[in-house]
Amino acid sequence: MARPVVAIVGRPNVGKSTIFNRLIGDRLAIVEDKPGITRDRIYGVSEWNGKPFSVIDTGGIEIDGDDVILKSIRMQAELAIEEADVIVFMCDAKSGLTQSDEEVAQILFRSGKPIVLAVNKVDNLSRHDEIYEFYSLGFGDPIPISGSHGTGIGDLLDAIVEILPELNDDEYDEDVIKVALIGRPNVGKSSLVNAILGEERVIVSDIAGTTRDAIDTPFEKDGQRYVLIDTAGMRKRGKVYETTEKYSVMRAMRAIERADVVLIVINGEEGIIDQDKHIAGYAYEAGKASIFVVNKWDVVDKDDKTMHQFETKIRDHFLFMTYAPIVFLSAKTKSRLHKLLPVVQHAAEQHNLRVQTHLLNDVVSDAVALNPPPTDKGRRMRINYVTQVAVKPPTIVVFVNDPELMHFSYERYLENKIRGAFDFEGTPIRIFTRRKS
Ligand code: GDP
Ligand code: GDP
Repeated sequence: MARPVVAIVGRPNVGKSTIFNRLIGDRLAIVEDKPGITRDRIYGVSEWNGKPFSVIDTGGIEIDGDDVILKSIRMQAELAIEEADVIVFMCDAKSGLTQSDEEVAQILFRSGKPIVLAVNKVDNLSRHDEIYEFYSLGFGDPIPISGSHGTGIGDLLDAIVEILPELNDDEYDEDVIKVALIGRPNVGKSSLVNAILGEERVIVSDIAGTTRDAIDTPFEKDGQRYVLIDTAGMRKRGKVYETTEKYSVMRAMRAIERADVVLIVINGEEGIIDQDKHIAGYAYEAGKASIFVVNKWDVVDKDDKTMHQFETKIRDHFLFMTYAPIVFLSAKTKSRLHKLLPVVQHAAEQHNLRVQTHLLNDVVSDAVALNPPPTDKGRRMRINYVTQVAVKPPTIVVFVNDPELMHFSYERYLENKIRGAFDFEGTPIRIFTRRKS
């Protein structure tokens, strides 16, 4: 399910990251329990009244030059207009309405995008008059909030979900595998797209009438239909903007949200850097199937151990993604390229795999018999029932006597046993523990 994207825009220091953290609150805590996930984040998922969406903090997008602040927020605004479904325009009651607020308001206004105007730092809700001047921006009622006190966040969420669009999820048939390529600039994403499309027996089709046909590239190979998501968008991306990490992340987000399988392209010549980890983290959180593609393998000095060494490095850096297969190839020479699509196809199948409840319970019973659940102050967790409630990604609910007794390590243990029995290669699995005696 593609989640709509909500972007937070505003001057530096109005409190964007504070509110961002409030919006993604509990989710953040869950994700950060997992080792290897970055803390320096600008992207997260949230849900309100049963409506899921993803949130981006556009703050901190910086560029060089004079007038930096104004330029950066203009850039944020433009980015948000292009990439987001709803924009939260944030101002600051303490500093009042400023010239740059008005400039941004003009850009946002012209875009015709749904805007929610939030005025932060209204720390004392009885001082409501602080927000009146913001009416002049022309976005209707400003919503008073306080990031420090957490007040008004519910109202803000109400306003956001009220105007969230329903995303059209069936723009392609169910059997079409949607693939997104993500990665830092210059790792070879465009080259890889061209290499795939230029491969033997690949039939590039022109499916007209789909909403996004202008930027997606559908093709068929060996009877399987695929679509490369947002490839034109990828090509047109300015290299100047792309060098800013947050910018490229934001650009990649929507493609990730729309995809079934995400190819995380890594430059084999340069190795893994932090930015690769951030990007991979988004694919993980979005619950998409993922494959590491180590490109430029042609220029790597190698012997019979090199590939194994690189694999170990990937596993060390991406502890949370042990399920993702690794493919080494060269987009330039096309060597090993033929290995990629079968791996994509397999990962897509596993992402959509539904395991029968009785089989799942057999595996979990065996796992429990082999290694009983942890105890806490003499109480032992008892697993009563396990069932898969969703696919894409496979989502499993474990019903127990007391969810507090579930440990991360035991959840890991169960996940490994389940993977051992049913494969699930290439896809994350979500496991939730719920009370039921
Ligand atoms: P950003 O640059 O827009 O992301 O702003 P930050 O979230 O980093 O916040 C900037 C400063 O404002 C920090 O010192 C925050 O502690 C402070 N701040 C954020 N929200 C509030 C609020 O509701 N009230 C007050 N008084 N300060 C706040
Ligand atoms: P993108 O920014 O990720 O889309 O990267 P590009 O596809 O534009 O490639 C960046 C540079 O890397 C270009 O000069 C490509 O020719 C080069 N390149 C891409 N793939 C390979 C490869 O497999 N081997 C080598 N040697 N160079 C490559």
